[in-house]
Amino acid sequence: MGLQFYNTLTRRKEEFVPLDPGGRKVTLYTCGPTVYNYAHIGNFRTYVFEDLLRRYLEYKGFEVTHVMNITDVEDKIIDAVRKEKLPLEELTTRYANAFFEDRDALNIKPAHQYPRATAHLDDMFRLIEKLMAKGIAYRSEDGSIYYSIAKFPTYGQLAHIRVDELKAGARVKHDEYEKEILADFALWKAWDEKDGDVKWDSPWGPGRPGWHIECSAMSMKCLGEQIDIHCGGVDNIFPHHQNEIAQSEPCTGKQFVRYWIHSAHLQVDGKKMSKSLGNYYTLRDLLDKGWTGREVRYALISAHYHEQLNFTFDGLQAARSAMQRIDEFLLKLQEVAEPPATKYEPLREFRGEFEARLDDDLNISGALGAVFDFIRLANRKLVEESLQPSEARNILEEWREIDQVLGLGMTPKSAVPAEVRQLVDERQAARKARNFQRSDEIRDQLAKQGWVIEDTPKGPRAKRAG
Ligand SMILES: [Zn+2]
Repeated sequence: MGLQFYNTLTRRKEEFVPLDPGGRKVTLYTCGPTVYNYAHIGNFRTYVFEDLLRRYLEYKGFEVTHVMNITDVEDKIIDAVRKEKLPLEELTTRYANAFFEDRDALNIKPAHQYPRATAHLDDMFRLIEKLMAKGIAYRSEDGSIYYSIAKFPTYGQLAHIRVDELKAGARVKHDEYEKEILADFALWKAWDEKDGDVKWDSPWGPGRPGWHIECSAMSMKCLGEQIDIHCGGVDNIFPHHQNEIAQSEPCTGKQFVRYWIHSAHLQVDGKKMSKSLGNYYTLRDLLDKGWTGREVRYALISAHYHEQLNFTFDGLQAARSAMQRIDEFLLKLQEVAEPPATKYEPLREFRGEFEARLDDDLNISGALGAVFDFIRLANRKLVEESLQPSEARNILEEWREIDQVLGLGMTPKSAVPAEVRQLVDERQAARKARNFQRSDEIRDQLAKQGWVIEDTPKGPRAKRAG
């Protein structure tokens, strides 16, 4: 069984086969942040899942081109511009930069491109003009351009909505709305007073683009008319992704996206995250409380993307313990490892299990289970001192590949710091010179720092105490 994903479009697990005839190149578009505020951990749950997806594809040998847009004009941004009394560009640049900092703190791989909506207005104009020429889009009394959903026969397929329920000719100008007010949506919004200084010239007069046309235009511009995978959170399915399909497919006559993959919501303490409930967290809030980026990443990544994730501080504590177990394991390996590496046989079974789980629609909980089963097994050998130094070396080398997928920064730092190594050498010199007083002093000094010296046939070696 090959790699499989759950495709929202077909509502079943499907084997992943890229469009590339060579079977190697993969195009991935993920809806990026709307930059009017700091992204919250619910947003990052989606971005971390997308990062796992990309990393696993790369691990499997696919060559992924990943594009994530930056939405820098949208309803919520206009509100924030009004509230914060800042020019749009200043506001969006501030929060786009904050987003990149948070991304790095969570060890999310940078996308290959981050197109910004306001830099792609011409591409949006061309799409809108095509839709108007086909009679699918029309101009309303106030000069805005709307998409006529009745003109697209498969409208509603992705979101599983029946279009015969729609009120003919009803329109919605907001970027986000509920299924109940299914209606023609805005592609271009004519300027009105509420928009203040936020406006651009267009073939239809001053105004601003609707949110949905941004992603159709930027996806096609950066990745071509058809792409392999498009991701987002489940709340993007309707209206955003449904509308992206409706805008793109009539223009190209081709299927826009092969695999739609969506991650489920995040709750905090079993409730919907909201500022009024006091359970709303940005990544910065958690870092300020002393949690690390990798602990938060672990907590966000460790539930299957289909399942609602209940985020709690107990869960973060469990993430911290899990990371400590991994770190201690790697440090112990580093202390005994010697080149050259020789194959440690149980690795084969472990990696087989790890991959089988992830092949199955990115079953991360199963994959992490395999990681800890393996650690338990190898730890037992370490305690029994029956793990060969060359086998320890082999585990460390292969661990780097595992961490390429998980992105938990699990590459062990040098187990023995340089100053400790220097003291060990000094002690050895003192002993050779029969200066036992000095050699004992050094031993005590190292003990205070948590190190013991072990004499091995290859000479003395520092080891962590305990
Ligand atoms: Zn989007």
